[in-house]
Amino acid sequence: MRYLPVFLDLQTGPVVLIGTGELASAKLRVLVAAGARIRWYAPSGAHDAQGLEPAQLARIEFAKGDPLAADLAGVVAVFCAGAGDVGVAMALRAKSVGLPVNVMDDLVHSTFIFPAIVDRGDVVVAIGTGGTSPVVARRVREKIEAVLPARIGDLARFIGRFRKSIHGRIGEMPLRRRFWERVIDGPIGALVLSGHKDEAETALKDIADPSAFARGEASGKTKGHVTLVGAGPGDPDLLTVKALRALQDADVVFHDELVSAEILDRVRRDASRVPVGRRVGKPGVGQKAINQLMISAAKLGQRVVRLKGGDAFVFGRGGEEVEALRQAGVAYSVVPGITAAAGAAAQFEVPLTYRREALRITFLTAHKAGDPEQVDWSALTDTRMTVVVYMGMTAAPAVREGLLAAGRSPLTPVGVFARVTRADAKAAVGTLEQLPDLVASVDGGPAILIIGDVVAHSTPWRRQNLNLILSDLLEAAE
Ligand code: SAH
Repeated sequence: MRYLPVFLDLQTGPVVLIGTGELASAKLRVLVAAGARIRWYAPSGAHDAQGLEPAQLARIEFAKGDPLAADLAGVVAVFCAGAGDVGVAMALRAKSVGLPVNVMDDLVHSTFIFPAIVDRGDVVVAIGTGGTSPVVARRVREKIEAVLPARIGDLARFIGRFRKSIHGRIGEMPLRRRFWERVIDGPIGALVLSGHKDEAETALKDIADPSAFARGEASGKTKGHVTLVGAGPGDPDLLTVKALRALQDADVVFHDELVSAEILDRVRRDASRVPVGRRVGKPGVGQKAINQLMISAAKLGQRVVRLKGGDAFVFGRGGEEVEALRQAGVAYSVVPGITAAAGAAAQFEVPLTYRREALRITFLTAHKAGDPEQVDWSALTDTRMTVVVYMGMTAAPAVREGLLAAGRSPLTPVGVFARVTRADAKAAVGTLEQLPDLVASVDGGPAILIIGDVVAHSTPWRRQNLNLILSDLLEAAE
């Protein structure tokens, strides 16, 4: 390590920036974000402050004259970016009076270098490569960006606000540290990270005996937290960053049958995994029991994840679960997932909408399509509407009859997309007339049906058509 990372307090005085163009603007943005007061010299040309907001402009002094002759008293640091020879001369001057100076892309004349920064408010990560490779620094930053919760800075600030009062109530340092660890790792931390600062504050103030809390003794009012997580259609890489974080923070995960084994592999090793789903034909534990399980676990102070295939709010009964949690007074948050339709659309290139061709999408469930009361087929005859059917495999004959009877053309393109985004995904495309046969040809579910002209844009359709053309050509050649 040649360079020591330190955090410079920019409230103590102005910084001097010398330079013009995009390089100087980029530095300006960082310095303004850090709350600096900036004395800005633009040696060759005009100050270009385009894109800066009034509050930012207010922090900038547009300095005139020769920076080499300027008074440097009270200045905290000097930055040169796009300053040419003036930057080098300025660096020599700054060095001679002992001021830290950075000349962009010039290690020889700099006394400090600029890190890549992950900025989460009070939490800041600085990444340096000793000036060797900004590209490596950027890659590292991307990795850190992905694992750090967006509100980690809020969490730091939240703790900062209560540190003094807890200090006064817990004498011993190790116990105090334990207290904060339990706050950060527990439901209160989860509340802050999910944007519920007020509830977190109430929960913290409700801790009657902080020492007992720190020792892990249940203090009547400690409440857990439930996160409803959409797991997506199967490919674990389609989990959102938030979903992954929730899985890795969980104490217990109640999951559906639809959730793939690879996704369950991403759950924190020590967490309990409880299957609560129902399979076609086999009953699960029942919605009421699931609600009760979640509520009881949360009331024990656990971080509960309710993990569902696709998105919790698309035929996932997430609405009912949220209502039950609300009624039970349990704190919760919802993390969206990629619904099966979006997974199929992406994997098989079915544009669910298409300029002029498909202007609307309907998602419907057809597990009760045999019951004519359940689906209003007459509302689905618009040829510029894409119809996506969930839970429609067994009901495929009824879906076909319903749509045909309502007047949709038997030649409407349809696709059956099974186990989408998984290793054994399979698609079958054809016409509405052939729907039940297509369902039979994908070797089992789960599968969604997509009905509408857009299916003709899909990869399996194009491939099939190409095959038809080829076989026609071959026949003609014979
Ligand atoms: N909440 C889920 C849907 C649950 S209903 C979501 O947003 O995707 C269950 C139905 O979803 C299945 O019957 C099937 O129609 C569809 N489905 C779920 N996962 C699927 C997958 N990987 N491939 C195809 N269809 C899927």
